[in-house]
Amino acid sequence: METITKQEDIIFRSKLPDIYIPKHLPLHSYCFENISNFSTRPCLINGATNEVYTYEEVELTARKVATGLSKLGIQQGDTIMLLLPNSPEYVFAFLGASYIGAISTMANPYFTPAEVIKQAKASNAKLIITQACYVEKVKDYASEKRVKVMCIDAPPADCLKFSELSSADERDMPAVKINPDDVVALPYSSGTTGLPKGVMLSHKGLVTSVAQQVDGENPNLYIHSEDVMLCVLPLFHIYSLNSVLLCGLRVGAAILIMQKFDIVPFLELIQKYKVTIGPFVPPIVLAIAKSPLVGKYDLSSVRTVMSGAAPLGKELEDAARIKFPNAKLGQGYGMTEAGPVLAMCLAFAKEPFEIKSGACGTVVRNAEMKIIDIETGASLGRNQPGEICIRGDQIMKGYLNDPESTESTIDKNGWLHTGDIGFIDGDDELFIVDRLKEIIKYKGFQVAPAELEALLLNHPYVSDAAVVSMKDEQAGEVPVAFVVRSNNGSTITEDEIKQFISKQVVFYKRINRVFFIDAIPKSPSGKILRKDLRARLASGDVTN
Ligand code: AMP
Repeated sequence: METITKQEDIIFRSKLPDIYIPKHLPLHSYCFENISNFSTRPCLINGATNEVYTYEEVELTARKVATGLSKLGIQQGDTIMLLLPNSPEYVFAFLGASYIGAISTMANPYFTPAEVIKQAKASNAKLIITQACYVEKVKDYASEKRVKVMCIDAPPADCLKFSELSSADERDMPAVKINPDDVVALPYSSGTTGLPKGVMLSHKGLVTSVAQQVDGENPNLYIHSEDVMLCVLPLFHIYSLNSVLLCGLRVGAAILIMQKFDIVPFLELIQKYKVTIGPFVPPIVLAIAKSPLVGKYDLSSVRTVMSGAAPLGKELEDAARIKFPNAKLGQGYGMTEAGPVLAMCLAFAKEPFEIKSGACGTVVRNAEMKIIDIETGASLGRNQPGEICIRGDQIMKGYLNDPESTESTIDKNGWLHTGDIGFIDGDDELFIVDRLKEIIKYKGFQVAPAELEALLLNHPYVSDAAVVSMKDEQAGEVPVAFVVRSNNGSTITEDEIKQFISKQVVFYKRINRVFFIDAIPKSPSGKILRKDLRARLASGDVTN
């Protein structure tokens, strides 16, 4: 649907009517609002151990954890860091923090110590919940800031045990008044430019986003309490936290937790637990499309396969469809700052909508989308590519302690500028065609060029550097560096540069190729002309 506002903006809205959203509820109350309908049904299934927790067990454990956290001194507005792989404890800790008005910042457990510490410091984490094998990464931060470290498994000396939290008496949980605008989750994202920043997602924002996806009368619901959702995507990414965990909890689905993607256990679990909903990313879709093992398993239970977080080509989409005989396979489009879901495939939910291959779905309900000309900012009509902008209660409150970046991302009229280029066709379907912003998406993970450039510039034999994306069949995109050697007799090699970076970053930020160059092309204001570098890559005009 399309309307023209006073300012002549052409605004696109969902084809489905707006719904009532209980934005006044704190996130945990909203998630468990209908729990009496499914209290004894499975809520979390640990795929590694086959342990099952019912809804009433999860809700009770979360309240116990909340009590334990407050006994440890965690107060409303404090931040705790979850440095964990997917696990039931992840869910208990996130919900427990929400109950007492605390904030969870989620970090990738594979981060290097420097990466973890940067996020812990920036978010002022007061407690770190992790596993024994990651404690070393946070030891320095913990001793410097006198912060407690807690392990979900057997803790080393000086660390606390998570199970002690869940043995607290929930009747002692402090009563806190949570404001809908209070922050509950603080994922990190580099957004359209620069270094990773804390994305402040409020209770109201996440309630709105989840409601946009799953609330409303049947048949709008695309998940329900009989569903089994596979939670294989990492919960430290907002896609999994929101569209798998929180959406699953809201509707009463069973959430099957896998720590990481491995094709055999993945197929075994789908077959064993008769998974019905598969929220994936393009590399998982690729693995399914290519694996000869897929034919050996019964995947007929799967009725919805969603792909998001990175572009999924039409050919791959069609190839994967064949592997799931009974499933609708479509895409969703998200961005951490947008809460994250901007658009999703309507056909998941409702007849007679059909899936268009290559489309990212249509804008979610209770939200507005516009496409703007990247030069003039004027809003564009159908089939005209421009920057995708979104407005609604689901978007972030802003970046933590960074009003400047917030203002350059959310304009004064409340529009969040995504840095993605796309168009909306005659059927309200959104197609993403390019990316204006810098970020590189390696298997759906963010790589911020600015972060790698800063590390490269620390090297005494590098005088300037720029990092851009290069297409890659497995990963989608990989980071490659253009490097200017310093004029101090530098003979630094590609391998030396790669090793220098590898030691400092998580695996997906490693530089794939290094090209030496005389000067980094820059605009008069000093901005790296990444488009020129990408064009050189595409034309093969590069040497190393
Ligand atoms: P993140 O904040 O890590 O979720 O990354 C958000 C970015 O991922 C978006 O701004 C897009 O550039 C990209 N992205 C997410 N979903 C899709 C999709 N379905 N198709 C193409 N790009 C996508």
